[in-house]
Amino acid sequence: MSVFNPRVAIRRHAEVPAVCEACGHRTALKNRDKEMDDALVDSTVLDDSRAELALLHRAERLFARFPDSNDALKVGREQLHPKQHPRVSQDLEFQAALQADPELSDFLRHSMFHLSTRSAGVTRLIEQLSQRDFSAIRCPNCDQGRLHLPEEFYHAL
Ligand SMILES: [Zn+2]
Repeated sequence: MSVFNPRVAIRRHAEVPAVCEACGHRTALKNRDKEMDDALVDSTVLDDSRAELALLHRAERLFARFPDSNDALKVGREQLHPKQHPRVSQDLEFQAALQADPELSDFLRHSMFHLSTRSAGVTRLIEQLSQRDFSAIRCPNCDQGRLHLPEEFYHAL
């Protein structure tokens, strides 16, 4: 079984697209070294993790509004003790509230997690990566932001 490793995968590309998380400047990077590639991957993971944490917080607020709901999208496999909380496939009130946030709805449909464990893990990852040195990939345009890989490129690596 092979494990996806973006740090290895990015090395295969002679040129990679990059975008500044602060000003949105787009560029293409050639002549990169491993330090730069590692920084690009970590920078991308940091921004992905921040976006995921925002979704997890929205999930938390939504779940708190429906403490007794056993909707399948609320109680993931790990959260559900099937004998104590028989799963119902759909809780119409919960579903109606979820429809107001299409991005969250999509996220919950494609995720399986234990909310508090996942939130704690993502928070720890963000703290670690926030302390990392990103000077190798400072934005050439604004000189403030750091570059990261565009989402579609990163997920196709
Ligand atoms: Zn910039």
